[in-house]
Amino acid sequence: MGKIARYLNQLIVGSVFDTPDVLENYATDQSALRIRPKLVALPESTDDVRKLMRFCYQLAAKEIKIPVTLRGSGLDEMGADIGNGMVISTERLNRLLESDKRERLVRVQAGITLKELNTALSVNGLTIPIEGHEMETIGGLISNNPYDDYASKFGGIMHYVERVEVVLANGDVLQTARLGNRSLKRKASEKTLEGSIYNKLSQLVDKNESLLKEMRKGVAGRYGYPTIVTASFKKSIDLMPLFFGAEGTLGVITEVILRAVPIKQKPHRVVATFDNFKVAQNFLDVLKPMKPRRLNVYDIRIIKITEESGKKLGKIASKTKNGFVVFAEFEKKSSSALRKIASLRKVLPKSSELVIESSKNKAALSEFENLLIGFENQTKTEERVPFLTDFYVPSRNLGGLIDDLKVLEEKLGLTLALYGSYSASNYNLRPKFKLDDKNFSKLATTFVRTGAFIIKRQGGELAGGAPEGRVKAIVTNDDMPSDKMALYAAIKNIFDKYEILNPGVKLGADATYTIRHFRKK
Ligand SMILES: Cc1cc2nc3c(=O)[nH]c(=O)nc-3n(C[C@H](O)[C@H](O)[C@H](O)COP(=O)(O)OP(=O)(O)OC[C@H]3O[C@@H](n4cnc5c(N)ncnc54)[C@H](O)[C@@H]3O)c2cc1C
Repeated sequence: MGKIARYLNQLIVGSVFDTPDVLENYATDQSALRIRPKLVALPESTDDVRKLMRFCYQLAAKEIKIPVTLRGSGLDEMGADIGNGMVISTERLNRLLESDKRERLVRVQAGITLKELNTALSVNGLTIPIEGHEMETIGGLISNNPYDDYASKFGGIMHYVERVEVVLANGDVLQTARLGNRSLKRKASEKTLEGSIYNKLSQLVDKNESLLKEMRKGVAGRYGYPTIVTASFKKSIDLMPLFFGAEGTLGVITEVILRAVPIKQKPHRVVATFDNFKVAQNFLDVLKPMKPRRLNVYDIRIIKITEESGKKLGKIASKTKNGFVVFAEFEKKSSSALRKIASLRKVLPKSSELVIESSKNKAALSEFENLLIGFENQTKTEERVPFLTDFYVPSRNLGGLIDDLKVLEEKLGLTLALYGSYSASNYNLRPKFKLDDKNFSKLATTFVRTGAFIIKRQGGELAGGAPEGRVKAIVTNDDMPSDKMALYAAIKNIFDKYEILNPGVKLGADATYTIRHFRKK
């Protein structure tokens, strides 16, 4: 064991490793990248995190840089939870600390998983309704702020978080809260990093008034840095939104207070198939105002591909060979919506099928619901690595995107079967790649760049549903206007002047570095 790991092990209650086997375990995530860290730390408490950050900060002040990357369960698809310095994993920060049943409030450590939290909440009939991987941690969810399939109905993770506790770059702790004018003035005058953050951010907002006014006209504002667009230091301010989607670049989230809601009943499901997108879209447009919990659309080729894994999905979609499938979930109480959908049977084209959940088709529908698990199934030599996942395209332009994809498919020789949430306008493409092929890097890069081009052409946003990480940043950083880039760089600098917090992601991402770190298997 090296000197640093030994020193840090004396410093904290948790553990620090630098053995090759452990480092290798933290070198990959769900993305196409592999970056081996030099150290892996498993803190046991906020105090441990503070000591680790203070250590890195003091070294950085002496120009010895150990970049720090936070990691929850390592499910990131864009390489934002791997790094070449110290990985701080929150896997031991997974306790439920307090709960108030009457107020439906719960205080947790950031490393608790969605499954652990929802299991604990279910005892009191409560839940956090996020449609996501059950292993994702609350800290990871906040830091990625994905626009999940339920988000248009239930609001996404941001809707349920009341406060966060963040360890700052220098090891100080910031607890978010809405500060009124007087408290803000008091806080901003403190000679601490927290004080300087409030002070400098408020000056930044004043200085960039006209840019912020311009940005307010666009779709920016839902995520991390762009939330500065709607921040107003005039009356009151809460810094919490800045940490949503910030991918561990502004601080380490250690504790979170969430407000839960009553458990949702199992929904009623509906599946319909169409042999062309135009008719599918008409159907989607009828369903959307009925406020389904989930409203997804899939290129029907995904069913065919999934059937190769042994699944028999033909029970649901047997007639249609080419085209699109719509999958919707409705609250049980929406029986009028379901009646209205059933009445559509008369007007749907003959080639279409419509299946509404009943006791007879429950099992087949459940099998259908797991469609993507089979689709994403890896083979030994090929992987559906995520490059263009969770991008935003406005509904009105989805047909245009599908036409553009046909052209791209021919050009690249990849099967570009689109799927995603029509209600959240959030879509994915996961073609197969041979990672050990000598042309992999070139093909993958062309796919990201040309895919991003057509998404933008159709009025979409590459990082519209989940943040850039290292992979999407290949494109998003080049695309960002210089004034916006300078504004975000200034925010980063206010929080992390030595750039030790996840330096290679978001603004700090470097396309050449990312491409060089594509893994071979
Ligand atoms: C482009 C993209 C699309 C995705 N799409 C979906 C989706 O549709 N549905 C879905 O459920 N999931 C999706 N994911 C995955 C998922 O959003 C995240 O991986 C998950 O939210 C977090 O899981 P995790 O605990 O594994 O966090 P990790 O993957 O380990 O970390 C995610 C990010 O959060 C940071 N982070 C983790 N913990 C902390 C902390 N305590 N403090 C500060 N920063 C921290 C990491 O540095 C990293 O940047 C997507 C991810 C990306 C990038």
